[in-house]
Amino acid sequence: MRIKFWGVRGSTPTPQPENMRYGGNTSCVEVRLGDRIYIFDCGTGFRVLGHHLEQEFADNPFSAHVFVSHFHWDHIQGMPFFRPLYDSPNSQFLFHASSRTRSLKQVMAEQMASPYFPVNLNQMRAKQDFYEIDAGRVNVEDGVNLQAAWLNHPQGCMGFRLETKDGILVYATDNEPGDANFDKAVRKLAEGADILIYDAQYLPEEYEARRRGWGHSHWREAVNVVMESGAKELILFHHDPDHNDACIDKVVTEARNHYPKVRAAAEGMEIQL
Ligand SMILES: [Zn+2]
Ligand SMILES: [Zn+2]
Repeated sequence: MRIKFWGVRGSTPTPQPENMRYGGNTSCVEVRLGDRIYIFDCGTGFRVLGHHLEQEFADNPFSAHVFVSHFHWDHIQGMPFFRPLYDSPNSQFLFHASSRTRSLKQVMAEQMASPYFPVNLNQMRAKQDFYEIDAGRVNVEDGVNLQAAWLNHPQGCMGFRLETKDGILVYATDNEPGDANFDKAVRKLAEGADILIYDAQYLPEEYEARRRGWGHSHWREAVNVVMESGAKELILFHHDPDHNDACIDKVVTEARNHYPKVRAAAEGMEIQL
């Protein structure tokens, strides 16, 4: 399993020099399992991934499973800019999302509707399949065990646990601590994972002072989750738009005082399992 981070920022893209080391694009993580392509979220990092896939496959069609955690802008904004959807008519994209609030297809059509975007959905010529998912096992393909769970976030958000023979990856972003049932569910989702990608948007003091109820976690809670779930390595993810590189460096240093295997997600970072 190879994991690559294309977008690690939360809320909104932040293309500012002081953020460039960790990166300014919003959520998108690519996972390769042999020749299979899995993509978690379609924030602005999804656009950059699209360019790389075009380079890699040239005119050869390819297929990818795309899992969308929820429909906040920072998780869907790359979709209208993902070039293979327009230019690779023989490629296939299998989208998986909950339709508790809306179907993903409707969300895509709405975000591209006039007057918000000049091109509409029917100009995406690639084959698109939409699958509705809920908590529990997600049927993807043979030999892959994928579980989904609801997280604590306004309008809901899904976390994912991918179990393969190479190891276990958990992608759990956009989750606020403090609700006993959700706190338990996220620890269950993360149990024994090799890699836990987890929402660490705020500093604990920011959260306490003015961010309660906004649907996000902080690095200290991320450390609690990794330790209490028995996951092995923590990847801090969904960095706050106002946290620059120096701030994130400091967070990593502090988090490592509590748990040694912590890294902050950075654009371009790769993990081999
Ligand atoms: Zn988000
Ligand atoms: Zn969100």
